[in-house]
Amino acid sequence: MRQHDVLPVACAAPGTAEYDEAAAVFNLAAPARPAVAVTARSVAEVRAAVREADARDLPVRVHTTGHAAGARPAVDGGLLIRTRLDGPVVVDAERRTARVPAGATWGEVVAAAAPHGLAAPHGSAAHVGVVGYLLGGGVSFYGRYTGLAANRVRAVELVTADGELVRADAATDPELLWALRGGGGGFGVVTAVEVELFTVAKVVTGAAYWSAAHARPLLRAWRDWAKEAPRRATTSLRVMNLPPVPGVPPALAAGPVLCVDGAVLAASREEVAQARRQAEDLLAPLRGLAEPLMDTWALTDAAGVLDAHMDPAEPVPFIGDHLLLADLGDDAVDAFLDVVGEGSGSPLAVATLRQLGGAFADADPRGGVLNRVDAAYAYMGSGPPFGPVTAADLEAHCATVRSALAPWDTGRTVPSLVEGADRPQCHLDAEARSAVDRVRARIDPRGRFAGDIAPGATAAG
Ligand SMILES: Cc1cc2nc3c(=O)[nH]c(=O)nc-3n(C[C@H](O)[C@H](O)[C@H](O)COP(=O)(O)OP(=O)(O)OC[C@H]3O[C@@H](n4cnc5c(N)ncnc54)[C@H](O)[C@@H]3O)c2cc1C
Repeated sequence: MRQHDVLPVACAAPGTAEYDEAAAVFNLAAPARPAVAVTARSVAEVRAAVREADARDLPVRVHTTGHAAGARPAVDGGLLIRTRLDGPVVVDAERRTARVPAGATWGEVVAAAAPHGLAAPHGSAAHVGVVGYLLGGGVSFYGRYTGLAANRVRAVELVTADGELVRADAATDPELLWALRGGGGGFGVVTAVEVELFTVAKVVTGAAYWSAAHARPLLRAWRDWAKEAPRRATTSLRVMNLPPVPGVPPALAAGPVLCVDGAVLAASREEVAQARRQAEDLLAPLRGLAEPLMDTWALTDAAGVLDAHMDPAEPVPFIGDHLLLADLGDDAVDAFLDVVGEGSGSPLAVATLRQLGGAFADADPRGGVLNRVDAAYAYMGSGPPFGPVTAADLEAHCATVRSALAPWDTGRTVPSLVEGADRPQCHLDAEARSAVDRVRARIDPRGRFAGDIAPGATAAG
């Protein structure tokens, strides 16, 4: 049998282990309840599932890990395809690319790239799915050096609504490749992506934590450093309310903390001393302001970057929000800490400011429709509806933060960072949305995947 022949596929109904496996999501606050679900492990199984949906006239949704389950309209009815395609991540060291089967996580790509002295444009967590992250833009911990991760995608293989496998690259279908990268989804089922890697010798990475009592001067110092920071450095600042549970160091669970983490890249051996100095330029003034409670910053290999942020590895429920912010003056620092800092009563477990600028702001002629980020910081804040904190508390506090930060809100968003399907979203301008709609109409004329389109990503709103 040829590799892509169509096989019969069993779409599982609720109440079966197969259904539970296919419909499972990382964000437990946004469970998926499709009519039927399937875990596709080969291109043939994806094709068969899409053809079955066509025969039964079912809308199709697609996911990998369900990290973004809360960011998309609820999966409620229809067919849900989980992509977990068999096969390894294959690195072409000469071309500096990785071919990644849909279903792979960034941890798998980093592990495959490392023996070749290469690194990947991943985000903060090893277990995030490569495909959803890349289709949504992808804000990497190397992003001030690499730009939006989606811009580094060189090819996408996908099964379209007619059940056919197509490859979109610069030679075969540049328009589809362009629209897939940040266009908001709804084109088909991606089965593999080819992504450009970059050289890495060492990385200075880690996280330093302080009592949030020192938040104001620390945030101001980090903000001042961020304005002039080198492109090899990409960092984030978080105010965290960590619960006293196993895995959380007691010193960090004793009260709100402020964390500065990130990565400073040494692309070659010659750059290692410079990377150390650049990390020191960031950390020495912060350490001088107050003694950290914990500090893991160190020179390490690329894999260390995935450990620095300490995101939860197991599924958790969370509700949150995302904004792209302009430059933050002292008034903005005060406004931010007034609603998420010590004494604010914030129920958010994490309130993050991701440092943008650098290559994030550059237009990339080889990039996708979401090509650059015109903002200084990405805000994300979220928490679990757990114990005394209810979903309503979190929703209300998301609104409070949104209103406090309104003067600095650019009104734009990056799809991969969106945390709530009903939040205002604006990834693209009207002209780009219309152009992407035209590509969708060509690829999926009957709208089989229409439910998979990110809110706000079409010209219709
Ligand atoms: C702990 C944590 C850390 C994170 N860190 C970062 C970060 O540093 N930077 C960043 O930018 N984002 C980050 N994110 C957000 C993350 O990038 C998005 O949630 C992303 O969508 C995850 O991709 P996924 O495929 O795992 O998600 P899923 O929820 O499985 O998929 C999200 C969407 O992608 C599309 N999709 C997924 N697979 C396919 C496929 N095979 N074919 C077609 N469409 C598909 C679908 O439209 C789906 O609704 C983080 C999220 C979490 C929870």
